[in-house]
Amino acid sequence: MPRVSTVLDLSRALGWLPRSRYRTSPRALPNALMAWHDPAYIAALQQAETLDAPTDTMLRQHHLGTLSNPLFPEMFRRPATGVGGMMLAAELVQNGGVVHVPGAGTHHGLPDRANGFCYLNDCVLGMLALRHFGARRIAYVDIDAHHCDGVAAAFAGDPDILMVSTHEEGRWPFTGALDDDGGGAAMNLPVPRGFNDSEMRLAREALIVPAVAAFRPDAIVLQCGADAVEEDPLSRMGLSNNAHIGVLRALRHLAPRFILTGGGGYNPWTVGRCWTALWGTLAGRDIPDQLPVAAQAVLAELSWGGGARPAPQPHILTTLRDPRREGIIRPEVVARIEVLRRRIGRQ
Ligand SMILES: [Zn+2]
Repeated sequence: MPRVSTVLDLSRALGWLPRSRYRTSPRALPNALMAWHDPAYIAALQQAETLDAPTDTMLRQHHLGTLSNPLFPEMFRRPATGVGGMMLAAELVQNGGVVHVPGAGTHHGLPDRANGFCYLNDCVLGMLALRHFGARRIAYVDIDAHHCDGVAAAFAGDPDILMVSTHEEGRWPFTGALDDDGGGAAMNLPVPRGFNDSEMRLAREALIVPAVAAFRPDAIVLQCGADAVEEDPLSRMGLSNNAHIGVLRALRHLAPRFILTGGGGYNPWTVGRCWTALWGTLAGRDIPDQLPVAAQAVLAELSWGGGARPAPQPHILTTLRDPRREGIIRPEVVARIEVLRRRIGRQ
């Protein structure tokens, strides 16, 4: 379904994307991808793009052509463009600055195989590019509904990486338990179903912001998967997009270099609205209560692309910000945050 194109169309309809602020992502070259991925895997991924069915090796060794990592016509070019966007972003912010790469955020990708519809790991390659351009200490914050297992695998035990992830407990990929500290590099906050804005505010103020501030990063990468909002069909979290905006605002000035990525998000309306609202926030724009007609038209043209899913509620077609979804802060959320708080400042 359309995701990045919705962000561009909405941003342009709002007058938020002048040409001077926009760059087309270059496609990363195979050699650049090998900074983390196996050469044999990159070759297989390029070859798979030309095939209708995977070979045995592709399927068994590289998990290409499975239900969650299907073959499709741009299966190399599209993720390689996400990586190219991250590498360009790392270069653009080398003297300070901020870039939004909505097409990036493939945090499940592994060195030698596709994983969870992530064929490459543009988060990892972007962080390596930040290092190449002079950032030593990098904080990676991930508020996607799913745990960032690929990023965790890449940087386990790295003293110059702080990884903070909030994700729904008991959900694929079933990694990122509370006591998994990634060899000292990670803080994992698994959260219960229905995780609400009030709970995210507590996580933000009591854990995410103090942990990142204490780490004193040279750069921050914020993975803002939109699948943690209530209407997403692939998870059961209960956030509004105000939660994402709040985390972005709180982190933006904690490092001179800042890269915002997309990630998951499987409701075409909520993912486009969330990431557009994030771009508007970064670009210093005021989010209007009611969208102008041209922006409403972008949302009106979206569809689920088949299937029997509920139609969007009326406010989804006319606004960018959701109503706030406050709720009770459950004791298990408080307790888990308290456990992690004891580790702040140890990295
Ligand atoms: Zn996700």
